[in-house]
Amino acid sequence: MSRVRYSFSAGPATLPEEVRRQVREDLGDWHGTGISVLEASQWDPRLLELFRQVEADLRELLAVPDEYAVFFLHGGASNQFAMIPMNLLRGRDRADYLHTGLWSGKAAEEARRYATVNVAGSGAGSGFRRVPAQDELCLDEHAAYVHYTPVETVHGVQFDYVPETGDVPLVADATAALLATPVDISRFGAVYASAQKNLGVVGMTLVIVRRGLIGDAAPFTPTTFDYAVHLRTGSRFTTPPAFPWYVTGLVLDWVRDQGGVAEVVKRGRRRAEVVYSAIDASGIFTAPVEDRARAWTNVVFQLADPSMTSMFLDAAESEGLYGLQGHSAVGGVRASMYLGMPEEGAHTLAGFLRDFERRHG
Ligand SMILES: *Cc1c(COP(=O)(O)O)cnc(C)c1O
Repeated sequence: MSRVRYSFSAGPATLPEEVRRQVREDLGDWHGTGISVLEASQWDPRLLELFRQVEADLRELLAVPDEYAVFFLHGGASNQFAMIPMNLLRGRDRADYLHTGLWSGKAAEEARRYATVNVAGSGAGSGFRRVPAQDELCLDEHAAYVHYTPVETVHGVQFDYVPETGDVPLVADATAALLATPVDISRFGAVYASAQKNLGVVGMTLVIVRRGLIGDAAPFTPTTFDYAVHLRTGSRFTTPPAFPWYVTGLVLDWVRDQGGVAEVVKRGRRRAEVVYSAIDASGIFTAPVEDRARAWTNVVFQLADPSMTSMFLDAAESEGLYGLQGHSAVGGVRASMYLGMPEEGAHTLAGFLRDFERRHG
């Protein structure tokens, strides 16, 4: 099989080349310690210093206010689908969920095990091609929180606004949104993101929670799922996920070297524009999502003749363009371009679309 030039995989995603190189070096000998970060004791002061530094860098880069706790936890974003209701219902029996694609649907489904879920806004009627506007939301003022997914990676849908929820805490599954869109943490009660999209590698989920919401978990909450326990132990109640935590540190260093979050967000937006423009200019590809709801990280599109999809994917793969198959729930094609995707990757894909149309259009 030919070499992968660019990975458009929906996650785990491409790491920046510099990060990949640094990991390779550190796996041999981490800062002259003679061991790798994979082997360091969880009590090694150098590892504890690294953990502290990554949190400090994250707080600085994402402008996380002091009244928020930051956790680096084992498991995927999907774990938070359960941990959010367990921790944030705080004695209430209901929560609002916005349903704009596959992931927010799963989050709502999980929450139904613990609470009455009110679907306060939905994109289902449009086949998830748009997001509900603020004035279409039916929010419940007695809800414990409002949960939404700013970027839906399967349907390629993105909110172009932050829902206004009054005194009800807003909770975001920001797995694809952090470091890819502007996220003002102070607007939220809680924000979570698994690391394998924009933040690094699989095995860890970042959770940022307003401290005032912590400490009232449902009585049945397993100890390892209780935010208060993670607050007390500095995310080290269980042996912490040192490797992904460390890689996230390298990613944050890289973001700073590139000029900061605003700069990497701008580049991501540009990558998306390059690919969407190529699709919109073509006669054989179509992007179904409404203009203003198009995700910057995940460009979902189809061939006008769906029977050509597998030929298209084979041709892409033989050009070294990897991971373009759409999610099975949607079909078609999906180009995921997270933090580590170089701009040249987007141009290469756009060029490939034009070539393919010339040859087969
Ligand atoms: C990928 C993704 C998930 C799933 O994350 P896991 O870490 O695999 O549980 C959840 N939400 C969104 C928005 C995603 O993109």
